[in-house]
Amino acid sequence: QHMQEVSINALVEDALDLLQISFKNAGLTVLFKKDNGEITAHVDPVQFTQVVFNLLINAIHATPKGRKLEVQLERQIDQFILIIKDEGHGIEESIREKIFEPFFTTKATGKGSGLGLSVVHGIVKNHGGQIVVESEVDRGSTFTVIFPLKQSYE
Ligand code: ADP
Ligand code: MG
Repeated sequence: QHMQEVSINALVEDALDLLQISFKNAGLTVLFKKDNGEITAHVDPVQFTQVVFNLLINAIHATPKGRKLEVQLERQIDQFILIIKDEGHGIEESIREKIFEPFFTTKATGKGSGLGLSVVHGIVKNHGGQIVVESEVDRGSTFTVIFPLKQSYE
């Protein structure tokens, strides 16, 4: 891990820029909501970017054309929160516990490795963070990721 003090806003904006064409192809609009200015935090920028990408790519795959994705960043006292909300098909209650397990996928053979969320989960844990999912079938899903601003060993 290469923890560095980095701009979280810049990392999220870069990821959104790189995925612009994918949003367009999927017919999705993206709303980026950020509150009180710049957030800087101690993260591994490569791993943090991986989290943002994996969650956004899942959201794109789950969401029908014409709908909206919301990405929200919020700074709190000693942590920041990244929320990725889609208007997709949602996640059945019965599998909600399993989605973070490696190789768990509901996608057709060859379409999904089932590794995205297990990688996300591992990275979040490595950073001392938390991830929570809320979902309603046919309404959408919201992934909330909490990262500490500083690493506790410092
Ligand atoms: P993969 O994308 O390769 O299937 P992931 O680990 O990224 O693997 O996701 C595991 C499963 O979790 C997906 O197959 C899907 O069933 C579910 N999932 C993840 N993100 C979403 C989402 N935003 N909306 C609906 N289902 C999702
Ligand atoms: Mg995935």
